[in-house]
Amino acid sequence: MNQPNALTGAARPVAAGLPLIRLRAVTKVYGTGEIALMALKGITCEVRAGEFVAIMGPSGSGKSTAMNILGCLDTPSSGQYLFLGAHVEALSRDQRARLRRRYLGFVFQGFNLLARTSAQENVELPLLYRGEGAAARHLAATKALRSVGLGGWEHHTPAELSGGQQQRVAIARAIVTEPAVLLADEPTGNLDSQRSQEIMELLVALNRDHGITVLMVTHEPDMAAYARRMVHFIDGRIDRDEPNPHPAGLDLPATVEATI
Ligand code: ADP
Repeated sequence: MNQPNALTGAARPVAAGLPLIRLRAVTKVYGTGEIALMALKGITCEVRAGEFVAIMGPSGSGKSTAMNILGCLDTPSSGQYLFLGAHVEALSRDQRARLRRRYLGFVFQGFNLLARTSAQENVELPLLYRGEGAAARHLAATKALRSVGLGGWEHHTPAELSGGQQQRVAIARAIVTEPAVLLADEPTGNLDSQRSQEIMELLVALNRDHGITVLMVTHEPDMAAYARRMVHFIDGRIDRDEPNPHPAGLDLPATVEATI
């Protein structure tokens, strides 16, 4: 099998515009026999490095299933998933975990921070898993927290932070490994509209200023409006895949200041 050179060495920055992700006729079937359910019915889609894509669609349309496959947490039942030209569907569990650690960052609706642990330590965690030394972890986490507007909040625990700030910590944790792709699943689902806008502006800035590809599931058209491309799922298929000619947030200053 075509084993990925790109995935066996150290992660390198991926030049903007390069094909990063290719799904070819991807299906996902849950269960077997009479209770088998086809959650994805043949998804074909390409994402280039540097894109900002909103994945939309009604509940049950297959968005989470697609995100789990894109995030290498699950594998297709049939079809192909190429990441930087490597066949993900042919990788072992360990190889997929390595790909995840090197190239992907995750942001969830519920923040998923460790409760009695400082912002700094939460952000250092992925680097600890990667075997980085204390000094390198400290430096990278401090930088990541600063880049999400949380310089000075390093020693606060999640309970001492607002929802918007907690999501910023979660974003810092996702970007501390310098991933090529940020996978965000309803990142503003637990936030009020002001905080939601601020989080979206942060994602726009990370995409624009750091070249991080963003794939974001959202129900909310106001949030999808920040993306430069919208992919609509219906009943396990892509119903529409269209550019957003006038994305929100493009007029943001180069550095997003925290306002929370
Ligand atoms: P969405 O994220 O758009 O709400 P999902 O990908 O969660 O959609 O679900 C797509 C379909 O697959 C739904 O019918 C859902 O009930 C089903 N499904 C999702 N996960 C599982 C699972 N682990 N086992 C069985 N069915 C599942």
